[in-house]
Amino acid sequence: MQISEIFRSIQGESTRAGLPCIFVRLTGCNLRCTWCDTAYAFHGGTKMTVDEVLDRIAELSAAAPGKLPGSAEASTKVSLVELTGGEPLLQPEAIPLAQKLLERGYTVMIETSGERPVEGLPREVIKIVDVKCPDSGEPDTFRMENLAGLDEKDEIKFVISTRRDYEFAREFTRQHDLARRVHQVVFSPVHADPERTWPGMSARDVAEWILSDGLPVRLGLQLHKFIWHPATRGV
Ligand code: SF4
Repeated sequence: MQISEIFRSIQGESTRAGLPCIFVRLTGCNLRCTWCDTAYAFHGGTKMTVDEVLDRIAELSAAAPGKLPGSAEASTKVSLVELTGGEPLLQPEAIPLAQKLLERGYTVMIETSGERPVEGLPREVIKIVDVKCPDSGEPDTFRMENLAGLDEKDEIKFVISTRRDYEFAREFTRQHDLARRVHQVVFSPVHADPERTWPGMSARDVAEWILSDGLPVRLGLQLHKFIWHPATRGV
C-alpha cells in the first residue's frame, strides 16, 4: 500500500467527531476538488504492507497509557480507525486492511469521495461517502450505485462552498430520501483557510438555510480545524 501518514488524533468530522481515532491516510486521488485540504496526499508517501500498517495501528492504539477513573484497566486503547486519503478506495488493499481491522476488534470508518464503488467493503465498515457539489470542481462524480451500498450506520456528506452547493445538496437529499437511507446526512461548510485559495463558507449561513428549509440533516464542522491551525498536518 502507498501510505501518506498514520497518526492518532481526535476525530474531526462525522457523527463520531470528538472521539480519539487512528487515521490511515492513503496516497493518491483521482479527483481535484477546489477546496481540497489534503493535496499533500496526492503523491509521495511510503510503501507498506497491510501487516505493517496493522502493526503501526496496534502501536498507536496501545500508546495511550493512563488509568481511566473508576477502571481497573491500566491503559486505554484507541479502538476507532479511519481509512482516508486521498481516495482510499483507489488501492485494493484497503479492503483486506478493513477486514483485518474488524477481525481485531476495531471499529472501522472510511471516508471516500463517492466516485469509487463501496460494495466491496465489509458491511460493518462505517462508510462516510461524499456527494460532490457543483462548486467543488468535481460535479457529477458521485456513483449513484453507491446509494444501494449504504445503510443505517453510514453517512453521506456534502461539502458546501456556495449557496448553489447548498441548493444542490438540499435537492439531492430530498430527491433520494437520504435521511431515511443512512444514519446521518451531513452538510459541511468549507472551512476558511487564509493560507490557501478558498475563502471558506459561513457556517452560520448554512445553519440558517438548514433551519429555514427544515432539512433533517446535521451541520458538520471540522472540529480539528478549531483545535489546531487549519493547515496543520497529522491531526
Ligand atoms: S476527493 Fe478528497 S482527497 Fe480527492 S481532491 Fe477531493 S477532497 Fe481532495
